[in-house]
Amino acid sequence: KDTPVAAPKRVLLAAPRGYCAGVDRAVIAVEKALEHFGSPVYVRKQIVHNIHVVSTLERQGAIFVDDVAEVPTGSHIVFSAHGVSPAVVSAAAERGLEAIDATCPLVTKVHREAVRFSRDNFDILLIGHAGHEEVEGTMGHAPDRTTLVNGPADVAALEVRDPDNLVWLSQTTLSVDETMETVRLLRERFPNLHNPPSDDICYATQNRQVAIKKVAEEADLVIVVGSANSSNTVRLVDVALEHGAKAAYRVDYASEIQQEWLEGMATIGVTSGASVPEVLVQEVLDDLADAGYADVQRVVTAEEDLMFSLPKELRKDVNGEA
Ligand code: SF4
Repeated sequence: KDTPVAAPKRVLLAAPRGYCAGVDRAVIAVEKALEHFGSPVYVRKQIVHNIHVVSTLERQGAIFVDDVAEVPTGSHIVFSAHGVSPAVVSAAAERGLEAIDATCPLVTKVHREAVRFSRDNFDILLIGHAGHEEVEGTMGHAPDRTTLVNGPADVAALEVRDPDNLVWLSQTTLSVDETMETVRLLRERFPNLHNPPSDDICYATQNRQVAIKKVAEEADLVIVVGSANSSNTVRLVDVALEHGAKAAYRVDYASEIQQEWLEGMATIGVTSGASVPEVLVQEVLDDLADAGYADVQRVVTAEEDLMFSLPKELRKDVNGEA
């Protein structure tokens, strides 16, 4: 028996959502590499953290590996959007691999900050999640100078060499609010802590969080499309719950939505992480329409038009430049 709901059923669709400029560029880089060099093209780690994107590229001839040591000498290898440490770049060169660097330029910006601060004798407190590929890549740019801070709970036990030459940097895909809380606690302990020259949490992460906050204020349930290993996707679930949604779930595919999630829910918020193709969101909207949520209202908090040019290795080969 259907549960009656007082309010009409509707969907609030967050904008911005989905692909950011760095993901778009990285996925196109693999496609172009396949087009120009033929398959297989090897990719170190998942090019972006989305199961659908990875399996689609696999079908087109990409081979995903964890380590450059798995790649046959002379092959092309694409470094993922999350970036790599200098040690990985050297290992690929030593193996005679042709590297195509699809590191997002906004991750490269953090790498440069790490190099510069370490050269200037600063120690770096890197706020981020242990084991995440981006964190490994960034730490690898200043390995002797960087300490990882997973979140507010880590702050009390931190030991630093010189509290007056200390800077915080961060992973690009964190919760803005939680990161600011971590920084507040860091500054309580280390009043002379330096700030990064500009935001490390990228525009796409910030914009998607602002949009889902607005949606969550009015939504009963929020559905976030994206993969479990996608940091910015998982943060969208947290942010939705912190800003008024009674429930929030992450799904890779529309087929994962369970009927009981919808029971008694009038307003459903929908968004997607920065590595999620729009087709997956459309499938969610189609299934929700079948369940009676055909009224879709967009909640727009920003317009995005940033685009990055392709990795230089592809520009060179595609244009036939020397
Ligand atoms: Fe770049 Fe941000 Fe997208 Fe990551 S989420 S690829 S840092 S734009």
